[in-house]
Amino acid sequence: MQLITIRDALQQWCRDIDDIDARILLQHVLNVSHAHLIAHAEQALDSKQAQSFRLLAERRTRGEPVAYLIGKREFYSLGFTVTPAVLIPRPETELLVDLALARIPLDLPWKILDLGTGSGAIALAIAKHRPLANIVAVDFSADALAVAKINACQLDVNNARFIEADWFGDFNGERFNLIVSNPPYIADGDPHLTRGDLRFEPHLALAAENEGLDCIRSIIAAAPAHLVVGGALLLEHGYDQAEACRRLLSEAGFERIFSRPDLAGIPRVSGGALEIA
Ligand code: GLN
Repeated sequence: MQLITIRDALQQWCRDIDDIDARILLQHVLNVSHAHLIAHAEQALDSKQAQSFRLLAERRTRGEPVAYLIGKREFYSLGFTVTPAVLIPRPETELLVDLALARIPLDLPWKILDLGTGSGAIALAIAKHRPLANIVAVDFSADALAVAKINACQLDVNNARFIEADWFGDFNGERFNLIVSNPPYIADGDPHLTRGDLRFEPHLALAAENEGLDCIRSIIAAAPAHLVVGGALLLEHGYDQAEACRRLLSEAGFERIFSRPDLAGIPRVSGGALEIA
């Protein structure tokens, strides 16, 4: 097989994919930095590298998400392993972590519950920044929990445990200081589910019945029974669900209810706290 250079591989095999995506895939195959690709554009790929890169470029051309192709994604400045068993962590979800960390004291052993943890992105980002907190991370999917456990190991997190359950399924009266969740909230049948990365992500992690509000409703209704006095709930939701979330929080007895916009200005996280008796 004729040798191909970095420059030619990027030009010839990546015509239908984003230039940045092509470079990330080639960096992954060659295990080099972006600067290396630029400085060594004439370097030849060996046949194994060429074969791997060509295959990844073809899969990307067919729409597979870059994060699944390289098996990783950065979230909250931490490196996470991701597989098609988990949702790819999104930048807007960092807002949920920011709001959680703003509440969790550094010097107290707070108990935190993360519902629908997926890759463990939220739970592990919190665990890393609050070493005294004890995080319980729940998911319905055993395959997702396997990924979350790999991430806990790789990030050297010892203050998080993982439970397979259907939302609050298996808690025997255990109460938490804070509950966080990025539940599935896209309405079934929303055209977004048939576009871009979402086509390849687990439907279970993305879509919910009743205009996407089904899981949010279940979590809000059951949360007070799993919170300590004064405990709080923070939820990520869809662009048009803030008002519904605030209403549900109010109906469930939460106070100090609020919504916060993400970096794009879209209301993305809502929450509230139980009254301090
Ligand atoms: N924010 C994601 C999206 O719209 C969905 C995440 C979720 O359903 N929790 O792509």
